[in-house]
Amino acid sequence: MKNISTLHIIDSLAEITRHYDPEIIEESLLKTLNELAVGQEFHLYKVISTKPVITVGLLAFSVNGVIKTTGTHAKQHVISEHLKNGIKAAVLSGGLEQVSDPSGKVTHLIYPALDHNNGAFAILIQECRESPDFDILRTAHGLLKVYSNYLELIEHYQRDKLTQLLNRETLDKEITRLLIKNNETNCRRLLRREKDPMGFWLGVIDIDFFKTVNDRYGHLFGDEVLILVARQMEKVIRGDEDLIYRYGGEEFVILLQACGLNAAKAAFDRLRHNIEGHELPQVGHVTVSIGVVQITSQEGSDNVIGCADQALYYAKEHGRNQVCIYESLIEQGLIEKTTNGREKGGVEFF
Ligand code: GH3
Ligand code: MG
Ligand code: MG
Repeated sequence: MKNISTLHIIDSLAEITRHYDPEIIEESLLKTLNELAVGQEFHLYKVISTKPVITVGLLAFSVNGVIKTTGTHAKQHVISEHLKNGIKAAVLSGGLEQVSDPSGKVTHLIYPALDHNNGAFAILIQECRESPDFDILRTAHGLLKVYSNYLELIEHYQRDKLTQLLNRETLDKEITRLLIKNNETNCRRLLRREKDPMGFWLGVIDIDFFKTVNDRYGHLFGDEVLILVARQMEKVIRGDEDLIYRYGGEEFVILLQACGLNAAKAAFDRLRHNIEGHELPQVGHVTVSIGVVQITSQEGSDNVIGCADQALYYAKEHGRNQVCIYESLIEQGLIEKTTNGREKGGVEFF
């Protein structure tokens, strides 16, 4: 048993709450737990869904004292049969569960991390090869509560107040992460000579003639339309790795994972079509124009958004209510390549 000093705990809390990036917070939580419970292994899972079945995705884990994280997008993970019921019970009850493996040599402690509605959004599993230490158990539970509260606070500031979509501040970071990931994957692919058409696409979505909605029905109605369009996007764009942002005003950004240009175009077209067909109270129907670009090896997030903006501008200038792809417009000689990005905090064109 390891003696846990108050100072050690305070230092750990300071370390966990020093970061804003959930991935680093998760890493630092597991690092702390690993120091407290030497030789025991921890797995942290995100609860992806609870209905019809409970699905979890691995966020971070420790093996022989080394912490590994899986990135922003938790991957679905195979869980041994005997743990599944324990996880289910912990998620449903919101309380600690203890499960022994069939041999009786290993005990798993399953802690749910709860949000402010007492819903389990994550699960921590501690693997003990000797009988669980009560001090460690209490401390792990306490640290998990701090983790939950802190993550909820961060999540709150990452969301747009009106639509509850992700806000613009988090977009730059995510694009940069994808650019770095692309760079690493490309290097690996070159080495292995493999070709994988799966990639990320960024679409800037702008509601057509939205000023008219405000002018005709008032700003509050306009706000309601923004909320309904946001919900519609969430209904249509449902991939595990897809993210939806409110970029500002009546503009949204979607990061979409797709297998090639045609699939990306089809997904954005489906969204456009769906929004056009959705009946809004009083207002009737709105349409959107969408500019899309693939995230490849651009210099930075501004360049990515700049290209999608160019395609959006073209869509607006050529009839609105359509999806225009940057790469196709370039190929057809309809627009010219530019290295400019959209100016940060600058003028909005539409
Ligand atoms: P276009 O098809 O060229 O995009 O025309 P548009 O009218 O949509 O574009 P414009 O840029 O002229 O107008 C955008 C309008 O969006 C003006 C602004 O009042 C409104 N707007 C921006 N943010 C909000 C918001 O948070 N709520 C509401 N209700 N309106 C907003
Ligand atoms: Mg507009
Ligand atoms: Mg606009």
